[in-house]
Amino acid sequence: MKAVVIGAGIVGSLIARELTRYGFDVSIIEKEADVGWGVTKANSGIVHAGYDDEPGTLRAALCAKGNAMYEELSKELDFKVKRTGSFVVAFSDEELKILKELLKRGEINGVPNLKILDRNEILSMEPHLSPEVKYALYAPTAGVIFPWDVAIAAVENATANGAKLFLNERVVDIEVKDGRVRKVITDKEEHRADIVINAAGLYGDEIAKMAGSEHVPIHPRKGEYIVLDSRVSKMVKRVIFPTPTEKSKGILVVPTLTGEVLLGPTAQDLPPEMKDDLSTTAEGLNLVKEKATKLVPDLPFSEVFKTFAGLRPESPQKDFFIKKSEKVWGFVNVIAIRSPGLTAAPAIAKYVVEKVIEEDMRIPLEKRESFNPTRKGIPHFADLPPEKWNEIIKKDPKAGKIICFCNNVTEREIIEAIRRGARTLDGIKFRTRAMAGRCQANFCTTRVMKVLARELGVDMSEIMLKSGSSWVVDGKVRK
Ligand SMILES: Cc1cc2nc3c(=O)[nH]c(=O)nc-3n(C[C@H](O)[C@H](O)[C@H](O)COP(=O)(O)OP(=O)(O)OC[C@H]3O[C@@H](n4cnc5c(N)ncnc54)[C@H](O)[C@@H]3O)c2cc1C
Repeated sequence: MKAVVIGAGIVGSLIARELTRYGFDVSIIEKEADVGWGVTKANSGIVHAGYDDEPGTLRAALCAKGNAMYEELSKELDFKVKRTGSFVVAFSDEELKILKELLKRGEINGVPNLKILDRNEILSMEPHLSPEVKYALYAPTAGVIFPWDVAIAAVENATANGAKLFLNERVVDIEVKDGRVRKVITDKEEHRADIVINAAGLYGDEIAKMAGSEHVPIHPRKGEYIVLDSRVSKMVKRVIFPTPTEKSKGILVVPTLTGEVLLGPTAQDLPPEMKDDLSTTAEGLNLVKEKATKLVPDLPFSEVFKTFAGLRPESPQKDFFIKKSEKVWGFVNVIAIRSPGLTAAPAIAKYVVEKVIEEDMRIPLEKRESFNPTRKGIPHFADLPPEKWNEIIKKDPKAGKIICFCNNVTEREIIEAIRRGARTLDGIKFRTRAMAGRCQANFCTTRVMKVLARELGVDMSEIMLKSGSSWVVDGKVRK
């Protein structure tokens, strides 16, 4: 049976992988030049513990389940998860009432080991938190990931199991005949389809309209962030949330996997036509500074090295919209996947295949004997024990040639990223972390470009930053 997944974000990628477990003939269609460049690219990267969401909703059920699934998934797909734990802090007895409510919700949702701590306990664990803090809800199972790592790993594993990936292809129409999906039409070609999974993130409503399916409207809610250098890493060990409001979880302090500290996000609703507005604003960043300082007063803003924005796919109905279409046979919506979408993604993938496809659509599933659930990531040379370095460099001198000095990324890692499909500077950045360090690519851009040009057999003027026409070099200045 031919399944077409639209969107290679964390959700579509994991669904595609899950489909290959059962021998579907899977195609993944993505409009960008690489995997995980939509909502999956710009967010807080937290694997939430699961106490936020209203018990009984899909979000609550899939968040708690997804959190637990990250353990095995990260081993199978060889990506990092760091169980930092999280605090939701309260500065008053009024806010304590909300913490108690969250604790109760968490227990109903099946979140283990939640506990409310007092001021002394909090400050002994996180000494840089504001001395004004009174209570905190401690969730030891919360963690952090780089979400694009998960999407890349899932697609690599899905393609190793037979899926086909089509990048730089925008879905422009869906052909439906006699009430069934027949074809997904892109700006390049047509893909025959028995089942279409709509995992198009912010554009999920537009894709559903193409098929004539039920859907919910989606508008972007912008979140702006500030990133502090890893020199600040010792200041916070856990994810720090303020007490949440109806609208959002608030502005957080997040220690990332590699030691940088993320501050944000804001929450600003934008009209539906602004789904690609990733600009940051002075107003938004000042708000981030103000709110983050309330949590951790001595944050050193001299260590800011980057700002960015992400867009949440919001819809008026708060729950995820994961359903087979009642109007168009074969069409499945997996849309309105706002936070905790990263956390829930592994559980969403199982839910789509086992509940929606097998149970609701009555398509029998049979596990494929040859399915291989494992994939290996690109080894980061600097993480290997120093006693191994000489031995490896002797075999391959490129493994000893550092291209990105901030993150110690070698030429071998860049070549491996290209072998796995990176074709742009951002493709290299998200797969290896070259150009993602403190210098923000100032020193290594041209070095990476030379490797890309050489390996792809093209001129440097053909190398792009990301999708579209984002050329970096215009031409030669001197002959
Ligand atoms: C500010 C912010 C903070 C967040 N923090 C967290 C958090 O800490 N923890 C958490 O669990 N969740 C968090 N989330 C939510 C999480 O990021 C999302 O739920 C998740 O990334 C959604 O993934 P997705 O695969 O559905 O969407 P996407 O990643 O957007 O994937 C959809 C893909 O479809 C492609 N596409 C769209 N239209 C077409 C088309 N016509 N043709 C072909 N391809 C198309 C897009 O290019 C994109 O790659 C946050 C979100 C934001 C914005």
